[in-house]
Amino acid sequence: MGLKTREEYIESIRQMNPTAYMFGEKITNVVDNPRLRAGIEATAVTYEMAEMEEYKKYMVTESPLINEPVNRFTLPPSSIEDLVARVKINRALANRVGTCHQRCTGLDCLSALAIVTYEVDQKHGTKYHENFNNFLKYMQENDLAGNAGVTDVKGDRSLNPQDQEDKDMYLRIVEKRDDGIVVRGAKAHQTGSLSSHEIIVIPTRALRKGDEEYAVAFSVPADSPGLIHVVGRSTLDMREMEGCDVGNVKYSKYCPTLIFDDVFVPWDRVFLCGEVEFAVDMVVKFSSFHRQSHGGCKSGKIDCMIGTAMTMMDYNGTSKVGHHKQKIIDMIHRAETLYGCCLASSYEGKEQPSGAYFIDTVLANASKMHEGKEMSEATRLMVDICGGYVADLPSDKDFENPEVGDLIKKYMKGANGVPVEKRIKMFRLAEKLAMESADTISDIHGGGSPEAHRVTILRETNTEQKKKAAQRLAGIEE
Ligand SMILES: Cc1cc2nc3c(=O)[nH]c(=O)nc-3n(C[C@H](O)[C@H](O)[C@H](O)COP(=O)(O)OP(=O)(O)OC[C@H]3O[C@@H](n4cnc5c(N)ncnc54)[C@H](O)[C@@H]3O)c2cc1C
Repeated sequence: MGLKTREEYIESIRQMNPTAYMFGEKITNVVDNPRLRAGIEATAVTYEMAEMEEYKKYMVTESPLINEPVNRFTLPPSSIEDLVARVKINRALANRVGTCHQRCTGLDCLSALAIVTYEVDQKHGTKYHENFNNFLKYMQENDLAGNAGVTDVKGDRSLNPQDQEDKDMYLRIVEKRDDGIVVRGAKAHQTGSLSSHEIIVIPTRALRKGDEEYAVAFSVPADSPGLIHVVGRSTLDMREMEGCDVGNVKYSKYCPTLIFDDVFVPWDRVFLCGEVEFAVDMVVKFSSFHRQSHGGCKSGKIDCMIGTAMTMMDYNGTSKVGHHKQKIIDMIHRAETLYGCCLASSYEGKEQPSGAYFIDTVLANASKMHEGKEMSEATRLMVDICGGYVADLPSDKDFENPEVGDLIKKYMKGANGVPVEKRIKMFRLAEKLAMESADTISDIHGGGSPEAHRVTILRETNTEQKKKAAQRLAGIEE
């Protein structure tokens, strides 16, 4: 009980027995699979940093629920300070892992549920908030990692859940029993589901009357019977499997498709069951929180790209080149704008009726829109500065080859005095930062597609106030 060490976290994942497939094979040992281990190692840093003196003040805080120190990734925010800390820890974590640490999505679900379950209970006299708080206690007392099961596979995008030819295209309740419910469906792109102890599910979209079977939120252990993780490919995955050409970075990201093949959920783990009008609140709250998490994380990733680009300038002999310095400025301002927008969304946060705090939605969505476009620009600038070997660095095996190894090293030399091995390592890092698809594509689609951010911005902005300001200035008084 209490805060887990990095080793205790990895051991706790080892104790689980999930059903998982990858490359057409059943995976029986998740923790020692090199590809999955790289993801688990990234999540393990959220435990490791909680033990490090310099990060403790952000990573560890007192839970008002259990009156004990907890890892922030199990704490729904209950103050502006908590909202700000979310952004800071995500940036610090990205600095250390250079990819997705995978634990933010669970916190974002907990944060949304801490607000919405209370509101459902107020209207319907249900006891979802009590269920949720009991579950939260369990998460905090055991320092568990949660995965966000939000994105349904959705079938025909032009059709509502109830109108789909196959009714399982959105996760739904197929049976209600005395002891709980049975759910069926599939959630796509489940970041780090095998690095997590719990799968926390909420609806993926607004629902309407007739969609009651789809209005469901709950949590189940990641190794529940009927739950099947099918790990998706990512551009550099075979390198992890082969242990070759991965560079020095031992962290990575993987995203399974998670099939719920009639999974049982006991009633005390159910947080929504048929109250269709609250589906939209859950998904808007989750996705706003998650878009804000992204901004903290991705500003930290741009930090890594800036560091890579500047080191390569030293290694290539371009550190005094004017256009490179300008491009570094262009990268820094992108990171800081993203970070600033997320911090602002925290400082503008408000207390909700449950006592939990919610960020400013418009600012959080504005930061995600910025991320969607500007991460690719930051990547372009890093690659421009580093040079073409980001694309086609010879293999580790060629560098080690007795016939050709020394020759390649001779011709890969950069600035005088820089060991060629260092230059090679930096190119490998630049490649990873630019091309790890499971991470880079999340800049665009993670937390919802770009159009979802735009729609939220328009819906949540007080446009009437802006019209009134203009009308007053123009002398048009209504
Ligand atoms: C790397 C990565 C990690 C992720 N991690 C998680 C995770 O941990 N948990 C989780 O739950 N989800 C996760 N997601 C899922 C993410 O939220 C979705 O990818 C995103 O919401 C888009 O859904 P989709 O992939 O089904 O694409 P689609 O919804 O099919 O969108 C494709 C395009 O079609 C448009 N579109 C779709 N339907 C409509 C419509 N009806 N009207 C108009 N336009 C439409 C979209 O705007 C977009 O332009 C992750 C995604 C990625 C890429």
